[in-house]
Amino acid sequence: MTMTASTTTITTTAPAACLIGWPATHSRSPIIHRYWLREFGINGDYRTEAVHPDDFAAFIAALSANGYVGANVTIPHKEQALALSNPDSRARAVGAANTLWFDNGVLCSTNTDVEGFIDNLDDCAPGWDSAGDAVVLGAGGAARAVVYALIECGFRRIHLVNRTPMRAVSLREAFGKAVNPVEWHELPELLPRANLFVNTTSLGMKGQEPLPVDVARLPDQAVVADLVYVPLETELVQAARARGLRVADGLGMLLHQAVRGFELWFGRRPTVTAELRRLVEVDLVSH
Ligand code: NAP
Repeated sequence: MTMTASTTTITTTAPAACLIGWPATHSRSPIIHRYWLREFGINGDYRTEAVHPDDFAAFIAALSANGYVGANVTIPHKEQALALSNPDSRARAVGAANTLWFDNGVLCSTNTDVEGFIDNLDDCAPGWDSAGDAVVLGAGGAARAVVYALIECGFRRIHLVNRTPMRAVSLREAFGKAVNPVEWHELPELLPRANLFVNTTSLGMKGQEPLPVDVARLPDQAVVADLVYVPLETELVQAARARGLRVADGLGMLLHQAVRGFELWFGRRPTVTAELRRLVEVDLVSH
């Protein structure tokens, strides 16, 4: 918190981070970060800040002066955040920043969806990255983070299936020949080769159309990841579990992507516990 007198600015020592968005929609980030602050006994805070796009640059310029050690950034500010900060390779590759922090006074940024995706799979399906082809559905912002993560993890063949073919082609241009753009209607033929199947589209989300994927066509050792977390248990996740496949769900990724921001802001690396997951689950089903 900052109090401005006529000539001086007094900043209290309790560190605070915030989520910057417009509009300030209901987010699970305060639940997650306040849980970890309590767990570590850190006298800090995590708040939500509604900032109009026209005011974003000024808000960021005054972030530290306003008592913030960093921030999460959500729609519609992620591209502006990238442009106004010193991004790491992940944020640059994804084309969007979701986490800001200060390093020796310099505003830095990253995109934690990359490690959220990887760490969730490491947690739920150890060895998931050891072999084979990946099939990724979708070519939006989340798909960019997933494709970058898969390349980081050594995947040489990522079949990218998207409703709008040109968007899949543009990911090949961005990420290189590991990405194989595939037409939507060819998906059923690809499934038997998918050692890893990832849904990054909004299909299967509450209020959206269902996801037309027959998990019976996947190999017996396939791992399935769904980024959608509303509903908690998507039809894809349910069907994959019923078939005995290993599954990484969207809530797991959401929780894991928050770890790095907390560590950068508050200096302790938190863990994703079953208790934290239950807290967020309760919030998800009640909103
Ligand atoms: P986005 O940039 O808007 O991309 C949406 C993607 O969904 C595009 O590939 C789009 O295809 C596809 N799509 C939408 N409606 C479709 C339909 N009716 N039929 C076929 N394809 C359709 O969104 P995003 O930021 O990538 O987010 C995508 C999903 O991931 C959301 O549900 C989001 O909540 C989730 N997500 C979760 C996490 C997490 O931590 N769990 C993190 C990030 C995102 P076109 O290109 O053809 O339009």
